[in-house]
Amino acid sequence: MKICILPGDGIGPEIISHAVRVLQALDLKFEMAEAPVGGAGYRALGHPLPESTLKLAKESDAILFGAVGDFSLDTLPRELRPEQAILGLRRELNLFANFRPALVYPELVQASSLKPEVVGGLDILIIRELTGDIYFGQPRGIRTLENGEREGFDTMRYSESEIKRVAHVAFQAAAKRGRRLCSVDKANVLDTMQLWREVVTQVGRDYPDIELSHMYVDNCAMQLLKNPKQFDVIVTGNMFGDILSDEASMLTGSIGMLPSASLNEHRFGLYEPIHGSAPDIAGQDIANPLATILSGAMMLRYTFAEAEAADRIEAAVKRVLAQGLRTADIFEPGTQKVGTKVMGDAVLAAL
Ligand code: NAD
Repeated sequence: MKICILPGDGIGPEIISHAVRVLQALDLKFEMAEAPVGGAGYRALGHPLPESTLKLAKESDAILFGAVGDFSLDTLPRELRPEQAILGLRRELNLFANFRPALVYPELVQASSLKPEVVGGLDILIIRELTGDIYFGQPRGIRTLENGEREGFDTMRYSESEIKRVAHVAFQAAAKRGRRLCSVDKANVLDTMQLWREVVTQVGRDYPDIELSHMYVDNCAMQLLKNPKQFDVIVTGNMFGDILSDEASMLTGSIGMLPSASLNEHRFGLYEPIHGSAPDIAGQDIANPLATILSGAMMLRYTFAEAEAADRIEAAVKRVLAQGLRTADIFEPGTQKVGTKVMGDAVLAAL
């Protein structure tokens, strides 16, 4: 089990070190190697995704990623900015399926801006197609019309094979959870989405024991606020998934708690917290390391098929929350405020 460790920028190195310690404490054999990425990649080797970092990633079975982003490098040309590293890795490794769980821990139910009875016990998974759709479709651009007015245009596009592969991933993920899959589209207005619905329905015939439903994206945006617990797994395209997965993560109220995975068809995955490099709190020992630790658990579950070890990490995190330990982002009166290191140590002890 070869893991490529990419700490990145800002709080990345602090939080990733705790996730690494947790993985090393399991009775599993990992080979780990670290490389610079993002702003750190640019500073060390002149590129946000240096060739040697990409090579290491390609030779591994999975990537554990911290975060990239460094405001002091925002004046660089776009292709050299830290955030390009993530896009480069997605493209080079064909990471087409993005998994974003949204889970509300009973201890943190107050962190949500929704009522406890709406979000208490929430446990949903959004699977977003990550390499197609209007974000990549050609042609695109800004052109000047004959009357001199400018017009912007993009192309929404999905091939059958792109829809099929993400649908299979979603049905298989649903099979490991509550066996319900909701495919979200806009088939009433968009031809691309009509094809999406047809192909997902077709793929569903291979999974007769998974209950498949379809929902329009506007309705899904409402249902996520009204009754999010009706969902188990949601699968959707790149643009709708971008928006819905952020909406779903905010149901939980705690950005520092949520892991994510981006997978290709060989179960290779990039695992990272959903938050960014948080430069405002970097180096202060106050960042929440739990999203990154839980990303390690997702890696065990989805790339290495070590569900038991993943369960152990998730149980350790739950135990630490039950003990009342909180980093500043999830702190409430009556709980104990701790820093990054104490939180990491507590998870290790619970493990
Ligand atoms: P951010 O997610 O870094 O931070 C948003 C807010 O949440 C900040 O107040 C931050 O302090 C807080 N926060 C984030 N993670 C936290 C944690 N683990 N514990 C406690 N608090 C936490 O988003 P931003 O400020 O918009 O962006 C900062 C940089 O990160 C930018 O350069 C952006 O491009 C980059 N970014 C990178 C990724 C990625 O690497 N995948 C994702 C999003 C943003």
